[in-house]
Amino acid sequence: MTQAQGLFAAKSQIVWFFGPSAAGKATLIRKLADERPQSLLSQLRSVGLDIKVCEPSMQKRCGPPLVQVVPGLVQDDSLLVLLIKGQTQEDPCADQPRLLKQALPRLDHRIIFVCCELKEVVRRAQECRKGTAAPQSDDHCKAELETQLAKVGKLQSDLEIICVNATTHDYLVRPWPCEWCTPRSLGSAPQIVT
Ligand SMILES: [Zn+2]
Repeated sequence: MTQAQGLFAAKSQIVWFFGPSAAGKATLIRKLADERPQSLLSQLRSVGLDIKVCEPSMQKRCGPPLVQVVPGLVQDDSLLVLLIKGQTQEDPCADQPRLLKQALPRLDHRIIFVCCELKEVVRRAQECRKGTAAPQSDDHCKAELETQLAKVGKLQSDLEIICVNATTHDYLVRPWPCEWCTPRSLGSAPQIVT
């Protein structure tokens, strides 16, 4: 067992949040940073660290790649966890978690996959889009979940992935992929390549 697996993390952490849009990535990031829920932080092995949000990642924009921004946000002499919101859309920087791990090899890098029961994702997506655009369909949300699973799956050989279920605000922590994002719960979804 390494020190990082103990109650108190021994090195700074870079934590990426992926998952379909409307699953609740930003909400979970703000909750961790603002409320510091000890039970959840303990399950994520992030107790005892300062918590910092990578603000550039929270905005929809085309600035410099995060791999260029993040090293400046991480101080060598203070232990912190930097929360980074991954982009939902396909982007040319999809490999950023791996590149950042290469750039900052002494830090602990991992991914939290924010998953959510499909019908709740559809409900939230429709809520967000009310009056502005065509409502999101089941198929659209399912396709987006599959895209995100495939994208994160490509990183699993390099980074630990943990599921946090955001269907309710209980935020259950599970090994990835969990019951909510496995092919069985998606019906006809494709197999996850391991
Ligand atoms: Zn899951």
